[in-house]
Parts: sequence; structure tokens; C-alpha cells
Amino acid sequence: MVRNTKKKIKGKVVIDTELCKGCKYCAISCPKGLISIDKKFNSKGYFPALFAHPEKCTGCAICAYMCPEIAIEAWKEER
Ligand code: SF4
Ligand code: SF4
Repeated sequence: MVRNTKKKIKGKVVIDTELCKGCKYCAISCPKGLISIDKKFNSKGYFPALFAHPEKCTGCAICAYMCPEIAIEAWKEER
């Protein structure tokens, strides 16, 4: 039996919801539509970005480049 030992490259995104001001630039710019806006507001009264479906993320980091508050970290990792 031959096993496929090839690791897959997946994206990882972490959003600091306390830095987020809810401008939606990240949600609009994600080519896969993986970021939405939360229904609960943060301590500053903004509705922050919410990252969903991490299994579909490529780690392209467009969302992080678009964020004016530097609230998003995005990278690629082997899984
Ligand atoms: S890293 Fe790319 S694919 Fe992943 S959430 Fe951000 S914009 Fe979307
Ligand atoms: S671009 Fe940054 S500040 Fe704007 S909604 Fe996304 S995480 Fe929040």
C-alpha cells in the first residue's frame, strides 16, 4: 500500500476583534468570501469581522493587507 504523505498548505487567519472597527474591507476583499461581520459588538461598540470556514482559506493574506487597523494576521502553514 502506498500512502500519500504529501502535506497540504492551508491558510490561517487570526482577527483581533478589539482592534477591529467593522469597516468590512476584509470581508469585501476576501476572494473566497470567508469573512463576515459578527452580530455581537466589541468593547468599543463596533461589530467586528468574523472568520468562518478556515478549511477553505488559502492564506493569501489579502484580508490582512486591506485592514487599516492592522487587526488581521494571515499566513500559510503545512497540515
Ligand atoms: S487569507 Fe485570503 S482566503 Fe484566507 S480569509 Fe484572508 S483573504 Fe480570505
Ligand atoms: S478590515 Fe480590519 S477593521 Fe475592517 S472589518 Fe476587517 S478586521 Fe475589522
